[in-house]
Amino acid sequence: MNEKLAINGGKPIRETLLSYGKQCIDDEDIQSVIDVLKSDFLTTGPTVKAFEKAVAEYVGTKYAVAVSNGTAALHIACLAAGISEGDEVLVSPLTFAASSNCILYCGAIPVFVDIDYKTYNIDVNKIEAKITEKTKAIIPVDFAGQSVDMDKIREIADKYNLIIIEDAAHALGSKYKDKKVGKLADMTEFSFHPVKPITSGEGGMIVTDDEKFYEKLNLFRTHGITRDRDLMYDNHGSWYYEQIELGYNYRITDIQCALGLSQIKKLDKFIERRRNIVNTYNAAFENLECITVPFEADYSNSGWHIYVIKLNLEKLTCSRKQIFEALRAENIGVNVHYVPVYFHPYYKKLGYKKGLCPVSEDVYNSIITLPLYPSMTENDVNDVIMAVEKVIRYYSR
Ligand SMILES: *Cc1c(COP(=O)(O)O)cnc(C)c1O
Repeated sequence: MNEKLAINGGKPIRETLLSYGKQCIDDEDIQSVIDVLKSDFLTTGPTVKAFEKAVAEYVGTKYAVAVSNGTAALHIACLAAGISEGDEVLVSPLTFAASSNCILYCGAIPVFVDIDYKTYNIDVNKIEAKITEKTKAIIPVDFAGQSVDMDKIREIADKYNLIIIEDAAHALGSKYKDKKVGKLADMTEFSFHPVKPITSGEGGMIVTDDEKFYEKLNLFRTHGITRDRDLMYDNHGSWYYEQIELGYNYRITDIQCALGLSQIKKLDKFIERRRNIVNTYNAAFENLECITVPFEADYSNSGWHIYVIKLNLEKLTCSRKQIFEALRAENIGVNVHYVPVYFHPYYKKLGYKKGLCPVSEDVYNSIITLPLYPSMTENDVNDVIMAVEKVIRYYSR
């Protein structure tokens, strides 16, 4: 089979573009939102609390604080951790910029620790070398849904007195050694953007077992304002409240939480479907020498937010860019996760230079994200496999 590639004028595998990720909404989700629209509260009402309770119960933590998006969640987690001007915070570079921007919001300094060649998560053997007297916290990212090696990170964090804020935007429902992600860090952030494991349109949450963090997270979510008599300096009467911190308006609406609450009931089914598709992909690509399929560590049970293949470029006659463009021409909505954060011009201006994390840079040069979401049909899955085989065979040495 030597079909002409769509990029060379041949017929594309698909007529329409298959996106790399997408929400999965049913009638029950829609009804749940309608019910809130007809209720007394559109924001800061009972559905926010109900969604927080559902997520806390699902992951097994005492507390949860829902906010307007995952980035806001990371920001208030950093504030609750007391991260401020001049502090250093360790973070992985192969991630969405938000994982590191939240450090900058606090006036602190992101210190990038290179990733592991197989999992693409922070390399636990490279963390200690980056710790200084100024290091206050670590933000490990569960890349693609695979949990970081939390026992090792906990050991280092305890030794150096660091706070762990886990960026689990990809990993709601994933497990580390049979414990749900969210149970093990000091604070864990989830995102409910439409491509994430479940969605609320926009939304984010911090889960924690620590009451002190919980109180602070609540403050920073709403302007730093409290009505708690124990926290207030004064009391003028029952109308009285005080702003005791500089917080933000990071509130999430009941409308959004109604969607989230309905979605979380389906999370385990979504993950089952994602894992099925991943197995199908892995089996199909096993005998393509030019591709390395995602690695799953023995301690991990991933919810697979994204499916990232690595090209073995020395076995191909072209670059990642050409494979990417050829797959797009076949109408497969491929993507790249991620440009190393410090490659971005804003970070360059701050003084970060290429060469800082060689593994991240090398991985970045050879990865492609293939479509993966629960409502993909068998046909969609087959289209992806056929397109990858078609393109890879053409460019194989
Ligand atoms: C999606 C995401 C976030 C948060 O994103 P929001 O769009 O603000 O909800 C943070 N970190 C990573 C790694 C993400 O993928």
